[in-house]
Amino acid sequence: MSDKPIGILGGTFDPIHYGHLRLAEEMLELAGLQQIRFIPAGTPPHRCAPQVAAQHRSAMVQLAIADQPAFVLDDREVKRATPCYTVDTLRELRAEYGAAQPLCLLMGGDAFLQLHTWHEWEQLFELAHIVVGYRPGFTLEERIHSATGELRRHYQRRLCAADALSQQPCGGIAELAIPKLEISATQIRSRVAENRTIRYLLPDAVANYIHQHHLYAPC
Ligand code: ATP
Repeated sequence: MSDKPIGILGGTFDPIHYGHLRLAEEMLELAGLQQIRFIPAGTPPHRCAPQVAAQHRSAMVQLAIADQPAFVLDDREVKRATPCYTVDTLRELRAEYGAAQPLCLLMGGDAFLQLHTWHEWEQLFELAHIVVGYRPGFTLEERIHSATGELRRHYQRRLCAADALSQQPCGGIAELAIPKLEISATQIRSRVAENRTIRYLLPDAVANYIHQHHLYAPC
């Protein structure tokens, strides 16, 4: 099998920022992905509700990725009326792409260390590889010791090189050293609420959208 893997980057994207975009761009290159599907969460089951409506979060993702043909907005989760889990989305994608296509669920190191709290988390490995970005100098191997036993066992058993991801449809864990930009959506929302500048933390088109639609501003 030689199909290049398809990457899946889920998040609340409330709003999308350069931390997400750099993570995606580096993973596209380092993992040899053919495409990354950005999937904004509808009503995330395991965290607080997003501040702005799904339609705005999707629109901001679309603006942010417009210049990168390998990045695609996939708004299936925001179109659902009911809360949905990553495992359900991966089941849908697996049905659409077929059993042989390598799929890679992309995430930052912090998200990976919480994986055992996700709904049916062990099923994720039956549906996709997991590709984790970690800060150079802080390997996941050092931090995995603080994770639960089950997650640690999966990590030790499934760890593989990025260039092996195209050889199997799912089941591997690959780590990629990616500098983490010190940007978070929380920080951007606070800055807007305090009427401070958000320029250069996210694409200008997204910043303009936030201002035009008065998102994150105090009521
Ligand atoms: P919030 O501040 O609201 O918690 P966030 O900025 O962390 O949001 P999410 O939508 O929760 O963004 O993140 C989606 C994915 O992007 C997660 O896998 C997360 O680990 C990763 N991510 C978020 N910010 C960064 C960053 N600055 N650099 C690299 N990865 C990031």
